[in-house]
Amino acid sequence: MTKEEVLQTTALFLLDLDGTVYIEDNPIGRMKETLARLRAMGKRLVFLTNNSSKAEWEYREKLARIGLLEGADGVYTSGMAAAEYLKEHFAGRRVFLVATRAVREEFARAGIALDDADPEVCLLAYDTELTFATIKKLDGFLRRGLPFLATHPDDVCPTADGSMPDVGSFLAMFERSSRRTPDLIVGKPYTAMGDALTARFCVPHAQVCMVGDRLYTDIRFAANNGFSSILVLSGETTRAMLDASSERPDLVLPSLNDLV
Ligand SMILES: [Mg+2]
Repeated sequence: MTKEEVLQTTALFLLDLDGTVYIEDNPIGRMKETLARLRAMGKRLVFLTNNSSKAEWEYREKLARIGLLEGADGVYTSGMAAAEYLKEHFAGRRVFLVATRAVREEFARAGIALDDADPEVCLLAYDTELTFATIKKLDGFLRRGLPFLATHPDDVCPTADGSMPDVGSFLAMFERSSRRTPDLIVGKPYTAMGDALTARFCVPHAQVCMVGDRLYTDIRFAANNGFSSILVLSGETTRAMLDASSERPDLVLPSLNDLV
């Protein structure tokens, strides 16, 4: 697709965060103006992340602080999508939620019944406050055969000095200890978050464009959900990595700033 075709067909842009709109605390290039121009064209913007270690309000605070968020913009995480999924498919069930304090509060406010003693379903989010007591508890519930969900599959989370273990690494541990893999993973590149998003923002899949810097999460997510996609080369992926991959984004740009 050309830039013009993408702009013509898209009502809602899903914007990955790290490597796409910012790197750490720094917006990429003139991102603030780029987003303003997209809003002026009537486009809806939703910041989308697989990172379920933070609650919506924490991302809103960060994006506002660095000047990228306007009032009408959406923010959506794999944690929020997982809460929606539980409400729809495990309505009223007691949930063992492995997550940070902020995210546990977000789930409780969303009306999810959290239960650490006698749950009916388990959800592993990105718990950066994880303790051995929690690991032991989840392992026990998994070996008892409880339904097992995870927010996202990423092995590592990028940091300023390399990377740190993410949910995918924890999943490898639980696979060894309890011989269980998740019955469902909610976030990119799968479809549960795509369905939750399109329902929440009332937009047809064909009018959604995913913008991201990772082929195997962002671009695959778009393909799995029937969204169009823009690969930006401002983060993880290089031209050589794209050439070696079977993923085919609809458009490739040096950064999102090159769209407008
Ligand atoms: Mg990224």
